[in-house]
Amino acid sequence: MVSKILIANRGEIALRVLRACKELGIATVAVHSTADADAMHVRLADESVCIGPPPSRDSYLNIHQIVAACEITGADAVHPGYGFLSENAKFADILEAHGITFIGPTAEHIRLMGDKITAKQTALELGIPVVPGSDGEVRPENAMEIAKTIGFPVLIKATAGGGGRGMKVARTEADLDEAVATARTEAAAAFGNDAVYMEKYLEKPRHIEIQVLGDGAGNAIHLGERDCSLQRRHQKVWEEANSPALTVEQRMKIGEVCAAAMRKLKYRGAGTIEFLYENGEFYFIEMNTRLQVEHPVTEAITGIDLVNEQIRIASGDGLSVSQSDVVFQGHAIECRINAEDPRTFVPSPGTITTFHTPGGLGVRVDSGAYAGYKIPPYYDSLIGKLIVHGRTREECIKRLSRVLDEFVVDGIKTTLPLFQDLVKNEDILAGNYDIHWLEKYLAGDNA
Ligand code: ADP
Repeated sequence: MVSKILIANRGEIALRVLRACKELGIATVAVHSTADADAMHVRLADESVCIGPPPSRDSYLNIHQIVAACEITGADAVHPGYGFLSENAKFADILEAHGITFIGPTAEHIRLMGDKITAKQTALELGIPVVPGSDGEVRPENAMEIAKTIGFPVLIKATAGGGGRGMKVARTEADLDEAVATARTEAAAAFGNDAVYMEKYLEKPRHIEIQVLGDGAGNAIHLGERDCSLQRRHQKVWEEANSPALTVEQRMKIGEVCAAAMRKLKYRGAGTIEFLYENGEFYFIEMNTRLQVEHPVTEAITGIDLVNEQIRIASGDGLSVSQSDVVFQGHAIECRINAEDPRTFVPSPGTITTFHTPGGLGVRVDSGAYAGYKIPPYYDSLIGKLIVHGRTREECIKRLSRVLDEFVVDGIKTTLPLFQDLVKNEDILAGNYDIHWLEKYLAGDNA
């Protein structure tokens, strides 16, 4: 078992990891930028190290500083959380070279899935269904030929993509040149790599992802799906499990396809295989080789602590459960609470004056916020996550509605009012939505 974990992250996820470590009796080291000196994850950790000034590249993305913080504190493992260095293969390599355990997959698997073209090829070889598209990179000179083979509309995507950036739809031949050019420019600006590829653009899919866990030695299981179709600008806003669109048979079938693929790959740690789902078919879009923001909905319906499993696996203890131990109970929904205007999503940094969290059966709040907390303007605007569990989807939504009325955050704007509207919406109540639904709703088209 690892004995001291440095948490290379901030905010709610740093706190989340810290909680798992405490329950396992593992010592914790928090790292923070000068902007986060008062943060909750720093206060609750056994030790903390300041790793630099506010900009992420100088602190949370600064590998030298993080390795130095491990050396100073004697941490023998690093949990990267999500974002920042969590999918950085070089970071995993450097830690290993220093004899520090990276709580995550091998650097090789991070690289394999980090490039979207290689990831799709690998998925195909592993028997996972993929979105029809180009075999490799698309260049301005071959784009038209490829698009005609796939059939319009098509989507141009960055091979180094993430966060929905560098993505452009071409509905007709006339749109193609411009879509390829803008996707390449955006990709170059966002990722320093202008390579793009092409996929069939699915008109009304749902986003359904499968949670997997592997021990690195060929044993792997799935923990069902999460439906993350409610998105704005390709960013998830509300996630739920189980998906209102799947039957038990469909869940177990796609879950087993993913688990079998992970066994073949000898995947180590937690991972998420993301699909678009349309007309009963699954289409792989990418795999995330880390813990996801929305992992608590899976924890709620399975009772399995995913961070605890990640630490066990990294310690060489394998999984605590087998596939037949996994039982899906009830329904869970997560709402991402952002410090943003609930209609325009313009960030709203500032000082929180009141922070009253709801409670009761089936309620979980993961947040580092508190009254008096000043939200620094340097990082993403997620200030917390509200996760509600019920025996049925209906009970879960009724509970969520009650819980949202109890939640008080003053001093800044948050996305809480958006969720208060959503829980009353007929489409939401019926589970009847696709990945475009929320954008249309916000534009007033299906309100
Ligand atoms: P990123 O890594 O940038 O988040 P993804 O490949 O995960 O990119 O896609 C993000 C979102 O973009 C998906 O959840 C979906 O909403 C949309 N999307 C991606 N591929 C397609 C496609 N082929 N057709 C329609 N929408 C897509």
